[in-house]
Amino acid sequence: MQLTQFTDLGLRVVMRLAVDRSDTRPSSKEIAQQLSISYTHVTKVITRLSEMGVVDARRGRGGGLAITELGRTASVGWITRRLEGEGEVVECEGSNPCPLRAACSLRSALKSAREAFFASLDTVTVTDLTAPPNRGVLLALPDLGAPETRTPQTGTGTDSSAR
Ligand code: SF4
Repeated sequence: MQLTQFTDLGLRVVMRLAVDRSDTRPSSKEIAQQLSISYTHVTKVITRLSEMGVVDARRGRGGGLAITELGRTASVGWITRRLEGEGEVVECEGSNPCPLRAACSLRSALKSAREAFFASLDTVTVTDLTAPPNRGVLLALPDLGAPETRTPQTGTGTDSSAR
């Protein structure tokens, strides 16, 4: 099964934020640069993560992004299900419906496989994903929010919709 790019980007953002110190709140722009993701995509995924309660996004001075306790302890399956949505593995209906859909065994088998995929991810937490050696890679990302590298525009804080 292939995840949508939206879900993969969401998990990247979650992993990145999970290794931040509690006094650090990077901007969406900084996260986009660090993870080599377009700023537009980052803002969309952060909006969704914020709606889910996984990311705390604040505007204005002292604003920025932080992972929540829910995000830190959530299972990857829980996050992935919500980012992926309820869609099926294959498009059986749509504008050109499949003629086999009335009693297709493949459709139900794929649905079961999808559930098994998510169930496997239910055993993994965000904390697991940010353990070594991945933690070292995440911590080695450029500290774009450090005072000596922060640009004037990013010094005013951020949130998902504002940046
Ligand atoms: S063969 Fe089955 S699973 Fe594939 S599109 Fe048709 S109804 Fe859906």
